[in-house]
Amino acid sequence: MIQAQKGTKDILPQDVAAWQLMEDNAKKVFSLAGFNEIRTPIFEATELFARGVGDSTDIVNKEMYTFEKSERSLTLRPENTAGVVRAFIEHGFSRQPQPVKLWYKGPMFRYERPQAGRQRQFHQVGVEMFGSAEPSADAEVINLAVKYLNSLGLNNLEIQINSLGCPECRKKYREAIKDVLKPYLKDLCEDCNFRYEKNPLRILDCKVEDCQKIFEKEEVKKVILGDFICEDCQKHFDDVKEYLSALNIPYSVNKLLVRGLDYYNRTVFEIKSNNLGSQNAVCGGGRYDSLVETLGGQPTPAVGWAMGMERLFSLIEKTPQNRLDVFVVSENLPETFKIVNELRENNISVEFDYACRKFKKQLDKAAKSAKYALILMDDELKSNTVTIKNLDTSEQIKVSRNEYISHIV
Ligand code: ATP
Ligand code: MG
Repeated sequence: MIQAQKGTKDILPQDVAAWQLMEDNAKKVFSLAGFNEIRTPIFEATELFARGVGDSTDIVNKEMYTFEKSERSLTLRPENTAGVVRAFIEHGFSRQPQPVKLWYKGPMFRYERPQAGRQRQFHQVGVEMFGSAEPSADAEVINLAVKYLNSLGLNNLEIQINSLGCPECRKKYREAIKDVLKPYLKDLCEDCNFRYEKNPLRILDCKVEDCQKIFEKEEVKKVILGDFICEDCQKHFDDVKEYLSALNIPYSVNKLLVRGLDYYNRTVFEIKSNNLGSQNAVCGGGRYDSLVETLGGQPTPAVGWAMGMERLFSLIEKTPQNRLDVFVVSENLPETFKIVNELRENNISVEFDYACRKFKKQLDKAAKSAKYALILMDDELKSNTVTIKNLDTSEQIKVSRNEYISHIV
């Protein structure tokens, strides 16, 4: 027996309604704000992610599905910002009126340890907004994330924001963090020791308890919580906060929030759901003003986010599968086919018994699967009528073949 691969899952028919809801609402909510969908390939040059996600990240170091084909190194996309940026550059989007506002949905691939809310093939929905450095753009994308979650009935959200400052602010901060953590290096985990050299800010992201205890130490905490961002970055951050308040979006500032990816600057944010367990982050994002240039485009400020759809799925209320409108009960297949097409042309869902079994069997089947049985036996055929049986109330009426459609709603 060949089974689905570890960390992958079939999305079965009974779950598809919830997935379609996530997809439909994405289209609705984002297009109301002038965002257009973009669909980029599932695999890209490995180098795109090495440069675009950053080679000090877990994603690039441990989690990529990389393979070779015709001496080219290819990788299944672990996230989609890099791919969207590549497309933005490749298609000359910087020559279009700015901002350029895009959204996407689709499967992503990361080789990590599967657990609840964590798969190897999973799905993300995300938005990216290019060409505006304004704090209103940051607030707009956060607003869209909240509105999208609300549209799915998710209201119990915790929104955390932080500012990483510009490259100059970050440099100062990085040095200060390195200085204060130096004496604790031997107590920090192996990953943190690696990050210390490569990307010290990421240490703050560490979930290991012993590491977190060190961040709680007075002198460390003082540096972490210290004001390190420059006046311009502070103004940007204050404006974002002001707009969020105007939007009635409750948020808290979390100075430990640095996000896993290398490319963020200024605003970063995460949305957690209080209804999820340990994997409770549903949305992560931030500003990435240098990425377009890093990947070879014109300098273009940008801000965006991605949400994990499996985690959304586990949160949204599932509606039971829709019952069919009609089941045709008849022992005459040619007549059945005619009526089936008439109904479907009128957007009424309908099935029938392919084996054309006896009346009683068909009626049983109808009662299990539909709202109405449409009976078309000899009697009806002779008098050019149909009998419509309401399967909830058992009431039935016989009506003319010419006007039966109006009796089914
Ligand atoms: P985490 O800290 O949970 O690993 P991350 O920082 O790797 O998250 P991002 O790269 O920001 O996550 O991705 C955005 C969202 O995508 C996450 O908040 C989460 O909801 C979802 N996500 C990320 N990795 C997975 C995965 N392996 N399986 C399912 N969902 C995932
Ligand atoms: Mg991760």
